[in-house]
Amino acid sequence: MNVPELFGSNVFNDVVMRSTLPKEVYKSLRKTIDGGERIDMSIADSVANAMKDWAVSKGATHYTHWFQPLTNLTAEKHDSFIEPVGNDEVIMQLTGKSLIVGEPDASSFPSGGSRETSAARGYTAWDPTSPAFVKENTLYIPTIFVSYTGETLDKKAPLLKSMSALDRETKRILKLFNIDCAKVNATVGPEQEYFLVDKEVYEKRPDLILTGRTLFGAPAPKGQEMDDHYFGALKPRIAAFMQDLDKTLWKYGVLCKSKHNEAAPAQHELAPIFSTMNVAVDSNQLTMDVMKKVASRHNMVCLLHEKPFAGVNGSGKHNNWSLSTTGLNLLDPGKHPEENTLFMLVLACIIKAVDKYQGLLRACIASAGNDHRLGGGEAPPAILSVYLGDEIGGIVDSIIMGKDYAPKRSVKGSIGVPESPIFPIDSTDRNRTSPFAFTGNKFEFRMLGSSASVADPNIVLNTIVAEAFSDAADKLEKADDFEKACKSYTEKLFKRHARVIFNYNGYGPEWEAEAEKRGLLNHKNTADAVSECFKKENVDVFVRQGVYSKNEAIARAKIQLENYVKTIVIEAKTMSDMATRQIYPAVNKYVGELCASLSVKKSVFSSLPTKNEEELIRTLATANEEMLSAVKKLNADLTDLPKDERESANRIAHVVCPDMRAIRSLADKMEQLCDKERWPMPTYADLLFSIR
Ligand code: ADP
Ligand code: MG
Repeated sequence: MNVPELFGSNVFNDVVMRSTLPKEVYKSLRKTIDGGERIDMSIADSVANAMKDWAVSKGATHYTHWFQPLTNLTAEKHDSFIEPVGNDEVIMQLTGKSLIVGEPDASSFPSGGSRETSAARGYTAWDPTSPAFVKENTLYIPTIFVSYTGETLDKKAPLLKSMSALDRETKRILKLFNIDCAKVNATVGPEQEYFLVDKEVYEKRPDLILTGRTLFGAPAPKGQEMDDHYFGALKPRIAAFMQDLDKTLWKYGVLCKSKHNEAAPAQHELAPIFSTMNVAVDSNQLTMDVMKKVASRHNMVCLLHEKPFAGVNGSGKHNNWSLSTTGLNLLDPGKHPEENTLFMLVLACIIKAVDKYQGLLRACIASAGNDHRLGGGEAPPAILSVYLGDEIGGIVDSIIMGKDYAPKRSVKGSIGVPESPIFPIDSTDRNRTSPFAFTGNKFEFRMLGSSASVADPNIVLNTIVAEAFSDAADKLEKADDFEKACKSYTEKLFKRHARVIFNYNGYGPEWEAEAEKRGLLNHKNTADAVSECFKKENVDVFVRQGVYSKNEAIARAKIQLENYVKTIVIEAKTMSDMATRQIYPAVNKYVGELCASLSVKKSVFSSLPTKNEEELIRTLATANEEMLSAVKKLNADLTDLPKDERESANRIAHVVCPDMRAIRSLADKMEQLCDKERWPMPTYADLLFSIR
């Protein structure tokens, strides 16, 4: 395999553009891509034609406006290139207009009540900053999705707006330091976790098929306690899948870099090299889609759910985030961070943003799936805090306490083997328990769920940091003595927002108590977390930065709650169905058989000891009956859900979810006592250890 040749071979990238477009057209298009200039409509036909010719040469027969509605998935409608000419002939054609705008029916996509179905016209508009590509005989054109009245209906338009807000406000900060630049780029590298299970086993689990997670399942005798899966040698089937996945994604220009087994059995990770945020978001959507398809080719199913299995680690996505402009990463502290006033100001602003808008950050990653993970012992807790590491943490501490900083530089270390070369030990060690950790030259936001789009958290990050920069610039642009004003402003921010800095174990129970004392939020579920989005200050920040209108911000929060409610309702109905129609009959039958055999045994040998057998029958029969009552309660609690999104989300979080936990606990207890042959579905051992 010639990787450099394969890489991006299905992407209409810069090299292809340069070689297929007339020089003037190419130059004009680059201005749009690099400098954010509005596209010159007169070049559209020429670009469309070149794109079509190239796509056809790659086997494409169709094109699609690829967009990201307010689900976590992407949407596409395929149109062929054919255009009739004369009587019986067609040519392949893509006009500039069809490249630039499309008009899918928007009525079936979530809008959070921002529009009537009758006013459902929606437009897709080409986003030239993310490259088009050919996948499975279709040319994919990345687009934004807006309504007839200009309201955004997708995740990409606000993402682009938030990137532009961040660009605008960062430039104001840079200007204070006499740095002029054309564009500030937000960069993202999202590490993606996932599970793989055997397709044959999967197909026997209605819960996995309908909800993506197991609603029942007693723990397998072996879990992740041996730590033998993390970074373990890849099994041949997994290795073959990963190779196929890399190859496919490289073709689409995704920068796949690392792959390894994760902590839980059957769990794995793929990390790409970071790229410009907009492209990283698209690539991650594409990655999730391709993962599922490639797994299917290998007779496996890729589970992207945040918690497919209880009792073992769930899956998240680490959002590595930074800001850069040509030749400068604003989060690179340099050799002497304590003297790097720009870095310290940027850091202070980010800390302020995280503290002030912790509610938004918590809310933007909330989902039914992620609720099982946050605070679950393996993921970061549901409390937002910032980890800075020893060196930067030390500097910030000294500023807060008004003391001189005694540098604790990275030390030369040796791994203790005489032959090994001396190597520098990184002074920012890795605190895996922190939800928002500074890792050398970027922040790693670790609360994201594995199945969610990374657009939402980045929209929030960009917006709140842009706001903090904007506040700083407002203040410092007026200062007479900039250097002095900047130092004292930075110091003030560190002091004021110190409560959000936490450099210790975020998994420990002490932290919850400590965080409460500090007044930090600790929302345990989506219903509670998303309530933050309705607060005035959390809506206003989006409006001020030009990312959402008030209506859009509220509509999005409502959609998030609606998605949460719908997800749990489907889970609850699936659970009720499986309990009633699979588990109850199976256990009942088994109890019947046990009773029959007990009665025969007793009639033949009246003195046989049967104490344990009787106890088993009693336990199973009682639990089965209790499960029926619990299902009845669940079904009752599911009826007449309130119309209001916030009220129904509350009912779901505080009534329906506990009902479901009660049913599961009874069923899982019965599973451990029931004849394996009679149990109506594959067990955790079958699911987690079937791939060899
Ligand atoms: P881990 O967190 O597992 O140790 P790595 O250190 O390998 O992972 O990197 C995590 C991710 O951070 C990678 O996707 C990498 O490309 C990304 N990354 C590195 N530098 C930046 C940056 N300046 N901006 C955004 N992401 C970055
Ligand atoms: Mg990481």
